[in-house]
Amino acid sequence: ELYNKVLELRGNIRVFCRCRPLNAEELTTGASMTIDFESAKDGELTVMSNAAPRKSFKFDAIFSPQAEQADIFEDTAPFATSVLDGYNVCIFAYGQTGTGKTFTMEGTEVARGVNFRTLEKMFDIINERETVYRYDVYVSVLEVYNEQLRDLLVPGNHPGMAARRLEIRQDGEGMHHVPGLVEAHVNNMTEVWEVLQTGSNARAVSSTNANEHSSRSHCIHCVMVKGENLLNGECTRSKLWLVDLAGSERVAKTEVQGDRLKETQNINRSLSALGDVISALAIRSSHIPFRNSKLTHLLQDSLGGDSKTLMFVQISPNENDLSETICSLNFASRVM
Ligand code: ADP
Ligand code: MG
Repeated sequence: ELYNKVLELRGNIRVFCRCRPLNAEELTTGASMTIDFESAKDGELTVMSNAAPRKSFKFDAIFSPQAEQADIFEDTAPFATSVLDGYNVCIFAYGQTGTGKTFTMEGTEVARGVNFRTLEKMFDIINERETVYRYDVYVSVLEVYNEQLRDLLVPGNHPGMAARRLEIRQDGEGMHHVPGLVEAHVNNMTEVWEVLQTGSNARAVSSTNANEHSSRSHCIHCVMVKGENLLNGECTRSKLWLVDLAGSERVAKTEVQGDRLKETQNINRSLSALGDVISALAIRSSHIPFRNSKLTHLLQDSLGGDSKTLMFVQISPNENDLSETICSLNFASRVM
């Protein structure tokens, strides 16, 4: 009974923690591991270091550096079914730059991530349900940078250009949408892959320093699903949001000025706004501060209610990253 109560209070928010492996450079320089995976059982993970007291954190799932993309997806796949059953779903990757947010969401051509795998699973289910349901699937890819939205499916839509400004509007039914955003109708995984590549390339070529830009912007895939039950004509509409968040690392204000300072403040503001919204939803607060950032405003209809949220907290195993790791784990504990 107690267990049910905990689940109920926690609502529809799940938090998975994934730790990247030590990289080649760290292995050669002999970096030390600061996370104890030996005892990472029952969803509890312990941070150990001589510099700080041992501290444990609990999550719905913990993925050690040995976990593969397929292992991650095994626990993520049920969300694909939820979307086709008519639920809104948000999947976020949160963490310091370099901890594997993009690896988890986008992945690589040989180790595809959650974005591709979720859509693949959705199309498998769509084919299985073919005799009873008809589905239409649309994909948009956008970026939030400095609190401005940019459509990544519009060719030549570079950050410096006088691109058409995208705004969030509310329709007569109170639903939020972005007028003018490209919604690519996709019929199969070949078309999905093309759209994902177009978005990914737009992000990479549009800035002088692609890595830095991607660590300072949120990359968002929105999958809209229209379903029709062919037996009774009942229709469903749902959205899946796949969000590769900006890097959560704290930047000392004394180190940055001008544009860079504004950028940093915008990132801090939107990540803390996201934390505020999710934790307000978790405790069923009567006021949910959606309007404090573009990101939470955009996702407003898909957060809370009977929507489902999954947050990947990405961490580094390296002792040198300890303070950022603790910050990320604290952020994650707060939204659970
Ligand atoms: P972020 O998006 O958080 O800045 P990336 O996804 O770009 O981080 O990851 C940084 C580097 O680490 C990339 O080269 C990526 O391929 C590698 N990496 C991250 N996580 C893993 C993992 N679980 N297994 C193998 N390589 C990983
Ligand atoms: Mg990244």
